[in-house]
Amino acid sequence: MAKYIFITGGVVSSLGKGISGASIGKLLQLHGFKVNMIKFDPYINVDPGTMNPYQHGEVFVTADGAESDLDLGTYERFLDVYTSKANTNTAGDIYRTVINRERRGDYDGDTVQVIPHITDEIKKRFAALKNKCDISVIEIGGTVGDIEGLPFMEAARQFQLENKKEDIFSIHVTLVPYIAGAHELKTKPTQHSVNKLREIGISPDMIICRTEHHLDESLKRKIALFCNVREDCVIEAMDASSIYYIPGSLYKQKVDALVMEKLNIKQKKKFDKAWFSKIKSFGEFSKTVKIAVVGKYADLKDAYKSIDESLNIAAADLKVKAEIDYLGAEDKGLIKRLKNYDAVLVPGGFGNRGVEGKIKAITYARENKVPFLGICLGMQCSVIEAARNLSNLKKANSTEFDESTKHPVIKILDEQKGVKYRGGTMRLGNYKSQIKKNTLAHKLYKSSEIEERHRHRYEMNPEFIGSLEKAGLRVAAYHKGILPEIVEIKSHPFFIGVQFHPEFGSRPMKPHPLFEGFINAALLNKKE
Ligand code: GLN
Repeated sequence: MAKYIFITGGVVSSLGKGISGASIGKLLQLHGFKVNMIKFDPYINVDPGTMNPYQHGEVFVTADGAESDLDLGTYERFLDVYTSKANTNTAGDIYRTVINRERRGDYDGDTVQVIPHITDEIKKRFAALKNKCDISVIEIGGTVGDIEGLPFMEAARQFQLENKKEDIFSIHVTLVPYIAGAHELKTKPTQHSVNKLREIGISPDMIICRTEHHLDESLKRKIALFCNVREDCVIEAMDASSIYYIPGSLYKQKVDALVMEKLNIKQKKKFDKAWFSKIKSFGEFSKTVKIAVVGKYADLKDAYKSIDESLNIAAADLKVKAEIDYLGAEDKGLIKRLKNYDAVLVPGGFGNRGVEGKIKAITYARENKVPFLGICLGMQCSVIEAARNLSNLKKANSTEFDESTKHPVIKILDEQKGVKYRGGTMRLGNYKSQIKKNTLAHKLYKSSEIEERHRHRYEMNPEFIGSLEKAGLRVAAYHKGILPEIVEIKSHPFFIGVQFHPEFGSRPMKPHPLFEGFINAALLNKKE
């Protein structure tokens, strides 16, 4: 069985097509289907690895080392699956594949064109995972009408024609804005958007309307009539206090049943409601813990999307609400502000900006026994901090920030024997670490071997391990006995820095042990 659900968007961007797709995927999964989600981004960047998180949000790293769009994180968390390179596609990567083929002479002198060569490659990728699942949910990024999105829409049109009607379900996500002066919800932008889609040759089976107010029956009827969809296929998507409530809201509107009806499939097992009971109370707890995330992108939550999710998931599991504030590492009163928080997290990052502020925040957390979690660059900063303030190596630094530092406690070690790097000089994707007994990490993971995702170029310099351990730091885990993966401060109740990105491994049903330990420690440190 190869069935496809296409998700396109209109009116404006950022309507949450990824969350809609993941929610529908989740419902179908709870009916027993194997679901895979594939994202298509129409921009020319080959992958989002080099894109500014301000524009694009976090770079999500798959286990096999693809640097991808943050929607893949949403898919993984909703569906509890592991995505891979095949789940993420960009126009840049598709064009590169076609151009490489052309350079090799594979087209035998043909004129290489958007139609059919680019569209053929896109169609091939639409079907890339069909043998690995029952249903592929295909999300086309951007907004209908965008020039760069056209080849994807055209490919979707051709794909419809080449497959059976009952194998494809097409969903269009739009915005129904509320005009306060007129006290009215407006359907016109949705009508225009669907018209644009129909001009391309795609007629949606369902319209998901993002709205701040309830859509009454007459409004739904109007959208149905003007947009040529069934009335029960006009779906209301109101803002929710937690994204994990969205599958429930779509379920109430029978979205899963409507999809199964058109795709002509019957549920494979009795609908499993355990997931719903688990997420029922997300964000609804009265007890709170206050977490400070000290990073470079203070005003953009999407830049730390998976961290945010991981903290919320762990907190919900412990029946508390995490109040998370993103503090700019360069803010003047940073340390004074930190006093209002129960725990401090320093996330990953690249480049010099804010590093000294992050190090100061770590000194504060270490000296005041405030629970601390350092992720990737956050871990590297904690090593620099310990070198400067515990080992008295005052100029200690990473060669990323000071190439000629006398004490390069963090540096590029890609010449290390026995360690294979993926992604050029970048360690990307899953790598194993062996954890030492009698460490905080061992207590949290309850395991001696773990596998976590990486995305970094620099490593802790093994030359300094001896002196740093004498001064109070502990390396709790290594990759192949060579590369330090986890550091801890021995005399601190909860101080842990990890070279990898645990945030990509959290699931609503399975909080990550590091985040769970961190929230627990924050609770113990809670300021009344
Ligand atoms: N900039 C650091 C490195 O490349 C850390 C990267 C990160 O935090 N993801 O090693």
